[in-house]
Amino acid sequence: MEKTIDESKQGQHLVLEQKEGNTRKLFIESYGCAMNFSDSEIVASILSEQGFNTTQSLEDADLVLVNTCSIRDKAEQTVRKRLEKYNAVKRINPKMKVGVLGCMAERLKTKFLEEEKIVDLVVGPDAYKDLPNLLAEVDEGRDAINVILSKEETYGDIAPVRLNSNGVTAFVSITRGCDNMCTFCVVPFTRGRERSRDPQSIIEEVNDLWSKGYKEITLLGQNVDSYLWYGGGLKKDFVKASDMQKATAVNFAQLLELCAKAQPKMRIRFSTSNPQDLTLDVIETMAKYDNICKHIHLPVQSGSNRILKEMNRLHTREEYFELIDHIRRILPECAISQDLISGFPTETEQDHQDTLSLMDYVKYNFGYMFTYSERPGTMAERKMEDDVPEDTKKRRLAEIVQRQREHSEIRTKEYLNTTVEVLIERQSKKSEDQWSGRTSQNIVAVFPKEHYNIGDLVNVHVKDCTSATLIGTALGYSKYN
Ligand code: SF4
Repeated sequence: MEKTIDESKQGQHLVLEQKEGNTRKLFIESYGCAMNFSDSEIVASILSEQGFNTTQSLEDADLVLVNTCSIRDKAEQTVRKRLEKYNAVKRINPKMKVGVLGCMAERLKTKFLEEEKIVDLVVGPDAYKDLPNLLAEVDEGRDAINVILSKEETYGDIAPVRLNSNGVTAFVSITRGCDNMCTFCVVPFTRGRERSRDPQSIIEEVNDLWSKGYKEITLLGQNVDSYLWYGGGLKKDFVKASDMQKATAVNFAQLLELCAKAQPKMRIRFSTSNPQDLTLDVIETMAKYDNICKHIHLPVQSGSNRILKEMNRLHTREEYFELIDHIRRILPECAISQDLISGFPTETEQDHQDTLSLMDYVKYNFGYMFTYSERPGTMAERKMEDDVPEDTKKRRLAEIVQRQREHSEIRTKEYLNTTVEVLIERQSKKSEDQWSGRTSQNIVAVFPKEHYNIGDLVNVHVKDCTSATLIGTALGYSKYN
């Protein structure tokens, strides 16, 4: 599962540079995971060819698009509230058109048009290239919908337009869809089967970003370790590939190496990894290249073997520990983060204790933790009763969050009196005299600005810390700057 993007960025209105001659105004906002934010850049790129420039003002927009998330009920409720807001604006500007993109569009399909009268356009994650045709229908006064999932679409041929970018970090999408069928997850139904993007187009995008001054990329996919390019098509059809296709196929470790070599001074990150697909080759490739960041987001969801089985997670607690041991042995400096769910159906107090003891074993640097939210259409919804009381889910979540806080504190303290390399991304939210950036391990660090600039790679001596942030002073530029 793709972790949802930073809370502060949810609902961000995306704005790109204005194209001369474009007269129509697009207001686009995104919710959910990094994949949605990346997709919105593709959508803005397609629509800029159709005469649309982006605007930050909802009131001025000719077209309003909301890129939606279905991972939790709360995410869907947020979008419903936004539609109410758009409705209020539409009363003043009746010509304004409203479209719903992403996972909620795919999940609800025509129901969206029936339930939300304000919606003119419903477009699933694989149908964005059809937007020009769909908009033509809307312009003629008809509702338009395309929620067909594709076996091929990776948008490899669309150059995404970077929206609201800091000019330093960017997402590069490498796979779409997921074949894993975790029983709680709606993604395989909303984003379809897994397919990988042509490595050549990925490298071209990485090179292009470097030439534009970007210093860090995140290779994105629901399950990046499962990346496999053999000439296009679904991952599951690889068994039918020709001998030549099999011999020249590119897996994730190889792709990572290609990216690291293509731009040796560019930082490379990736997300999200799935425990059963993360290979030793990937960990060894990370160790081989300084520019591959030493952080693995490794969702586990539960520490109980019984619950892992109910979730259809394809590994055991012991196999997960073995993987953690490999990471610690090959990459001792690597940070590890988690996704955890409390209160999955049938979860007992003992299962919960197993989760806490798994956390004690790994001592994650940070994590994303939620109570179980039943999603319509998933295997868990069809086969299991959501039987853990809400207050029990919440109490267990609070214990998990508290345990993570303690571990995060232990982890950040390990950096005290050491020197870390920080890529400056923005001004600190707490002080205009300080820069904020991230270490290779994806830990936030703040330090006085002095003469440094956004995009600089700086060595920082860590003098203090909180459970989430390193506090220090700059010692000078990194040798990789
Ligand atoms: S099915 Fe499992 S692996 Fe795939 S996106 Fe959902 S949680 Fe992640």
